[in-house]
Amino acid sequence: MNNITKIVHQNLCIECGICQTICPKKCILIQKKAYHYLPTVSTQCVHCGLCAQVCPVGDLFNDDHSQSIHNLFLGEYQSILCAQTRDQKILKNATSGGVATQIISELLNKNIYDCAFLLDDYAYEVQLQTKYFDKSSNLAQTQKSRYLPVSHARSCEYMATHPSKKVILIGTGCALTGIQNFIRLKHLNKNNYLFLGLFCDKMMNYGAVEYFKQHPQSQNKKIKHLFFRTKSQTGWPGNVKIEYTDGSSLDLPSAERMKIKDFFIMERCLYCFNKLNKKADISLGDNYIPRHADSKGKSSVILRTQLGKDIFDLIKEKFDIQEDTADDLISSQKLEQKRLLIEFAKLKGLRKGHVSRESKNLYHQHLKKIKISQSANLYQAINTFIAHENKSLLKSILRTVFSIQNSRDKTHKNITILGIKVKIKR
Ligand SMILES: Cc1cc2nc3c(=O)[nH]c(=O)nc-3n(C[C@H](O)[C@H](O)[C@H](O)COP(=O)(O)OP(=O)(O)OC[C@H]3O[C@@H](n4cnc5c(N)ncnc54)[C@H](O)[C@@H]3O)c2cc1C
Repeated sequence: MNNITKIVHQNLCIECGICQTICPKKCILIQKKAYHYLPTVSTQCVHCGLCAQVCPVGDLFNDDHSQSIHNLFLGEYQSILCAQTRDQKILKNATSGGVATQIISELLNKNIYDCAFLLDDYAYEVQLQTKYFDKSSNLAQTQKSRYLPVSHARSCEYMATHPSKKVILIGTGCALTGIQNFIRLKHLNKNNYLFLGLFCDKMMNYGAVEYFKQHPQSQNKKIKHLFFRTKSQTGWPGNVKIEYTDGSSLDLPSAERMKIKDFFIMERCLYCFNKLNKKADISLGDNYIPRHADSKGKSSVILRTQLGKDIFDLIKEKFDIQEDTADDLISSQKLEQKRLLIEFAKLKGLRKGHVSRESKNLYHQHLKKIKISQSANLYQAINTFIAHENKSLLKSILRTVFSIQNSRDKTHKNITILGIKVKIKR
């Protein structure tokens, strides 16, 4: 079977929709299944293999895991910066330092690029799709991170039908790899495209939206906008905000988003080493380096290619800029911890090699959480799971504090601390 069916069955699809665009027989359909938007291949498939070749899944097999942290996670670069836009309106509405939007706005306004493909949806009734924006567009509606799989089918269609247009493309590492595969397979002129890569730790499936719909305070209300992160109330890094169609709104601490991340993680993200978007011209993320702390938010910027550097040099007066080091970036983005993903890749069968029992346990814990997020009543299922986990954790802490053994002998008695039953020595 020379198509993407196997990739979907292995839970390795990132739902970028590019396979649908490249299919010469138009026999790939994107269908909603639970909280996913997955391609299905019809019987008209001629097994040309283009959908499998365009799929960014190849990235999972290609990285050489014996490389140093620098090579494996950081990739090639010319310089690493901390930047913040000087445009206060863009900055206030941005996720981090507003660098993505400032770059796009400048390049469109200066006619250096014809258009950009960006998002403008915060309701998520259907899958997010990047859309055409040009210099006449209002970019405010595009800002802020959506931690969900995005379809890049439209930008690919546009590039194929308008091969001479200069286009800015933005996305996570996996999505940009898919777009770059498309450009190569379609023999498009790669000099026409600028790749802005977002750092990406994990992407969540659309169950995350359902979770907020099932939140007790969303009862009988319809979500108009769900912002995973907004600086409007608490400043950077921002909290979750839900705006309802009846005009009311709900602010939730950022811990609420972090809490659910592992439950809705796309399984593919468990095996990915491309957090810093290694194939972009310019990679962008939050700047977590302590000396740059700023409640307005700053961005980490990696200028990778000559094109990326030249573009940034052209517009650098729009930013406040400081130099950063690779070591600072690697430690602030906690890249060393990502080595564990090599173990996960082995457990998935993507790599060969021995795996420790500890890694196996952690991996199965991840898969267990992903399974929980498939329940219909997922708000309750997740919170019950977390409460149970917290109780077990507290129990083991209390056991350690009071040197309690799991003994049944008479030297121990049952007591209740903070509502938790434990045995202590008489
Ligand atoms: C799934 C995901 C995971 C991330 N994980 C990390 C992380 O672990 N560490 C870190 O430092 N940074 C991470 N980021 C990047 C960070 O959240 C900001 O997007 C980045 O710093 C750019 O901020 P900005 O203020 O420059 O951009 P803004 O002015 O907020 O503009 C953001 C631009 O990105 C576009 N966009 C938003 N979401 C998506 C998406 N899913 N796909 C394609 N385009 C999108 C918007 O349309 C807009 O053009 C992640 C982003 C995403 C989307």
